[in-house]
Amino acid sequence: MRALVARGVAEPLRVEEVELPPCGPGEVRVGIRAAGVCHSDLSMVNGTLAPPYPLVLGHEAAGVIAEVGAGVDRVTPGDHVVLNWAPPCRDCWYCGHGEPWLCERAGAPSAARGRTPAGEPLHVTLGLGALAEQVVVPQRAVIPVPADLPPESAALLGCAVLTGVGAVRRTAGVAPGEAVAVVGLGGVGLSVVSAARAAGADPVLAVDVSPAKAELAAAVGATDFLLADDTLNREIRARTGGRGVDHAFECVGRSATIRTAWRATRRGGQVTVVGMGGKDDVVGLSALDIFHSARTLRSSVYGSSDPGRDVPVLARAVLDGTLDLGPLITDRTSLDGAPEAFARMARGEGARTVVLPEES
Ligand SMILES: [Zn+2]
Ligand SMILES: [Zn+2]
Repeated sequence: MRALVARGVAEPLRVEEVELPPCGPGEVRVGIRAAGVCHSDLSMVNGTLAPPYPLVLGHEAAGVIAEVGAGVDRVTPGDHVVLNWAPPCRDCWYCGHGEPWLCERAGAPSAARGRTPAGEPLHVTLGLGALAEQVVVPQRAVIPVPADLPPESAALLGCAVLTGVGAVRRTAGVAPGEAVAVVGLGGVGLSVVSAARAAGADPVLAVDVSPAKAELAAAVGATDFLLADDTLNREIRARTGGRGVDHAFECVGRSATIRTAWRATRRGGQVTVVGMGGKDDVVGLSALDIFHSARTLRSSVYGSSDPGRDVPVLARAVLDGTLDLGPLITDRTSLDGAPEAFARMARGEGARTVVLPEES
């Protein structure tokens, strides 16, 4: 089958023929209908993370079950599913204490699976490798969804939307009337803006370095768009009684933007880091600032969500029209167009590109 393969940091991405292993016991083969290009995929190839290569990219996707291995009891061929990049084991300490998103056995950056025609061992992003025509994954990595859910929307539920909605509702617990700032308006950031507005936050201040994001921010419900420049602190305080926001969400994964979110927040407010950064990028905060500001700094892993429980709820919201994902999808392309989608994302353009592997 064909897949988008990375061969090293800064090496060009290519669509290659690769071989997946046969469907083993407890595993399923999924034909991918739609896959989003997410910032964490970029982190796999720009030096932020150091996964083994060759690596099939992609972890935000939806498809249809093509084949099931022995002992599979939760799905059958023809079922429509969303892929889950952090399927909880339901057995470890975290799973037993209601924090399945921190499962000890889920969410490794990459897993060995399949090989190239030259016989090299192949790796797949977050256990999936979903920017491909097919994946072979454990059955606990698929979540059944209604067949009438459009594949493009279904794909986004698997990462950007679950993360964005979860960060607002579950991690931060944003209440009606609270002031929110969102720093970084990629697919996840825009999803946070949309979820904050839906939670009744006011104002919802959308922040980015690119003025081209203003229109996208307005489309998903931001009350204001603010440029991340020298004027930002003044502009935020002008809209929040001079205090700063109750909740700031950092959706980039960089020390500089974590500091931006920190400064945007009022005394006693909460900073939620949604972006995944690098291990050498250190955030500097003074001991006095930490004490005096009385702020809480926390992270939101997979939206503090349990995908198996929360994705079906979001799927129903899309189908009944209360969750509109249309504005989040700015581009659609074939698998061959995926490398260009990565280039657009690296330049900070657009929101989500959805790759449709069945198109050519
Ligand atoms: Zn993602
Ligand atoms: Zn677990």
